[in-house]
Amino acid sequence: MLKKSTSCAFAAGIAIALGLGLAPAAMAETTTPTSTAASVTAGAPQLDALRAELPADWADRVADARARFGLDATTWADQTRSVIDGSDYQCATTPVNAWLTGQLAGIDRPTMQAIDQLAGFDLATYDALIFGAQDKRNTFGYDGSYTNELNRTMDGLKKFWDFDGSDIQLIPMHGDTYRSIDRMVRVYTGVYGLDADSAREIAEYVQALIFSQPGLRQGDNPYFTFNAFAFDPAPEDVEQFPGLTKRIIMGDGVMAGLRGIGLQDKAAPLGVLAHEYGHQVQYANNLFESPLTGPEATRRTELMADAYGTYYLVHSRGGALNAARTLDVAASFYNVGDCAFTNDGHHGTPNQRLKSSTFGASVVDAASNQGHKLGALAFDAKFEAVLPEIVAPDAH
Ligand SMILES: [Zn+2]
Repeated sequence: MLKKSTSCAFAAGIAIALGLGLAPAAMAETTTPTSTAASVTAGAPQLDALRAELPADWADRVADARARFGLDATTWADQTRSVIDGSDYQCATTPVNAWLTGQLAGIDRPTMQAIDQLAGFDLATYDALIFGAQDKRNTFGYDGSYTNELNRTMDGLKKFWDFDGSDIQLIPMHGDTYRSIDRMVRVYTGVYGLDADSAREIAEYVQALIFSQPGLRQGDNPYFTFNAFAFDPAPEDVEQFPGLTKRIIMGDGVMAGLRGIGLQDKAAPLGVLAHEYGHQVQYANNLFESPLTGPEATRRTELMADAYGTYYLVHSRGGALNAARTLDVAASFYNVGDCAFTNDGHHGTPNQRLKSSTFGASVVDAASNQGHKLGALAFDAKFEAVLPEIVAPDAH
């Protein structure tokens, strides 16, 4: 089954510095925490009262929304879930797991669980996915330093691939969602169908919980925005949320993580974007269709997106990045994020991912005319031909 959004996990091995100690960005919509915020605790009777107020099918609503918007069964979801409750043993020893766990060091576990029970960790994602919009005032990354490169690359990708991508928006995901009660409320009402009063009560409580933990940085802990994904809305989504468009979401947490593990080269964040745009190429060309099912189907489209991304990055009419350096960055990147081989969200092993990227670069290298670029379908035909080799078990 076609997932309407495609999430991709990123990992790191060492603690990051970016974002630590940053003051929240000034925002018109910011809601000042109430004076009781610091004293809120997850075990307070207020939590029980709020939970009693939730609809009986609350857990189903949360799960249904994740399924509807393609946020479940992703490696990212597995990783973050694993960090909170240790439910996914396959992720427990991966570098990304260690990194994410490190991000949450010192944060009260019952508070984390309470935020989780109230779907608090999904709010920034839906805020960007459903209510975000492309705007020239948007910035990318905690310090805004990714803004120009990502916007430039998005323009380049739209020109490079041979379909009309003009309606695909590039949208940031920031932690500032949690500093605006109004933005939290619109997720609780719009996505989960809560009435306005309950939504506000829960939003204020979740915000108070977040503000009670300095390490959560009022929403700027990378855990809240540790994702990047491509989304293609279904007609019913647009009907419910007018203005919803095809989009690529780039979370601040992901970019902080890349920088934090030492992937300073711009090929890392641009590679993430080019991979996600590869998914848009797939949506536009129905390339999610194949005889494969389950993890093998997901692996094919993920590896294809790696190949599309690298082809763009190193092509002279695309990103024009140095191929060897780009592949070095890709190899490092793939090696830190592997998790859950049997999961539907599996991207392929690090070796398979590197082979796909190497293939993408080789298509550029093999062209007799370096100025010539392949269309999406012509490139895919080459990819499908080598896919069996890419996923074949290693001989040694
Ligand atoms: Zn992907």
